[in-house]
Amino acid sequence: MYSVYCNYETEKGNAPVSRMTFLKIVEKENFAIHSPCKDQCDLCFTFKSRNIEASVYDLHVAMKNEAKEAKKAAKTYAARPLLY
Ligand SMILES: [Zn+2]
Repeated sequence: MYSVYCNYETEKGNAPVSRMTFLKIVEKENFAIHSPCKDQCDLCFTFKSRNIEASVYDLHVAMKNEAKEAKKAAKTYAARPLLY
C-alpha cells in the first residue's frame, strides 16, 4: 500500500511522506485498505449492480435454497443413529 502511494506521488512529481506518517494518516482517517470478505457469489454480486435480470436471479436464489435444504437433510441423515 505504501509503495503504491509512493509510486503515485513520485509520478505526480511530489515527495511522498514517510511510511510512519502515511500509516498514522491511514489509521486516523480509518481508511479501509483490505477488500471486504467475499460472502456473495459472482451472480449475486452482478445482480446487486443491476446487470442481470431478476428472473435469472430468482432462479439462482431458488436453487440456492434448494441446495441449502438438501444439505440440511443430508446432515440430518448422516447424524442419524446407526442401527445394526
Ligand atoms: Zn449467489
